[in-house]
Amino acid sequence: SAVFLAVGLAAGMSACAPAGSTEAEGEAGSCNVGISMPTRSLERWINDGEGLKEKLEAQDCTVDLQYADDKTDQQISQIQNQVAGGAKILVVAAIDGETLGPALEDAKDQDVQVIAYDRLINGTEAVDYYATFDNYKVGQLQGEFIEEQLGLAEGKGPFNLEPFAGSPDDNNASFFFSGAWDVLLPYVESGQLVVPSGKSPASNDEWASIGILGWQSADAQAEMDNRLQSFYTGGEKVDVVLSPNDSLALGIEASLDSAGYKPGSDWPLITGQDADVANVKAMLADQQSMTVWKDTRELGAQVETMIMALVNEEDVEVNDTDTYNNEVKVVPTYILDPQVVTKDTVQSALVESGFLEAGDVGL
Ligand code: BGC
Repeated sequence: SAVFLAVGLAAGMSACAPAGSTEAEGEAGSCNVGISMPTRSLERWINDGEGLKEKLEAQDCTVDLQYADDKTDQQISQIQNQVAGGAKILVVAAIDGETLGPALEDAKDQDVQVIAYDRLINGTEAVDYYATFDNYKVGQLQGEFIEEQLGLAEGKGPFNLEPFAGSPDDNNASFFFSGAWDVLLPYVESGQLVVPSGKSPASNDEWASIGILGWQSADAQAEMDNRLQSFYTGGEKVDVVLSPNDSLALGIEASLDSAGYKPGSDWPLITGQDADVANVKAMLADQQSMTVWKDTRELGAQVETMIMALVNEEDVEVNDTDTYNNEVKVVPTYILDPQVVTKDTVQSALVESGFLEAGDVGL
């Protein structure tokens, strides 16, 4: 059941006027939002940023959308510029969840409201709300998919597994890994899953040792090349790869391809997340087994709802008040549900919902 929290706008704060206010009112309190996204190098962030901007502009908000090339300093200065330029609400998908505190605290001094978008911002009071998909569940869906496809619960195995984890500076990455590893680690311990590279965290806490900093496909590809060249020299084959998202999966798939693996014969099971076009094509070509789809339009709609509540000085709806502790406070959160998409559900889930056009993925 949804929990409602008071907004707590400071008296006299010039946040945003309700849509339809007169020009005179609009002058003092127009809806002014700064959106700070991490990078254009991943399709999802382009969709996230542009989708949210469009929704807010339809509500007569002034919107400044910035991308920070995955550089923390750039993200900080973009946020500072947005506040200096009059933004009263910030929506931030942090590159590094630990580094934005001082910039956001300065923003707070100017009565700016801060919404953490998709990724939590850590170590600061200066984050009011968080909207995300259930990050633990993303990993759990990946782990359960592997468990089911391989028949692990029925005792099948052993299978060769290569696990990967996301960027160590991204707060989501530990949730993704924990969700998957809680399912898979017992099978590693029972010997049904074997990790020839030895890159097998003994507990969830050790996930960062196999994290790919910056989430780059090329780095995942190099890591997979290295594992294949070092640990699979005696004819062993990889049976399954745990990849936390699509950008890493793409690099891993390129590596498998150059090592001579063939779809439909010895190509391993491989997981992903985001339903990026390239990965949906890979699924259709039997080079990726699944993706965890997070409908970014839903996340945008939820954040739009949050923003309009702030603008109208109404209560902001959240549905979780105990999961996301940022080391300073538990941030009131709206959590959305991710879902598995496979080759068989590309049409029904992604195309029919309008998330992708059939032609984008060659259907
Ligand atoms: C997001 C994923 C994305 C990854 C890399 C994560 O924080 O939740 O959707 O694949 O970052 O950008």
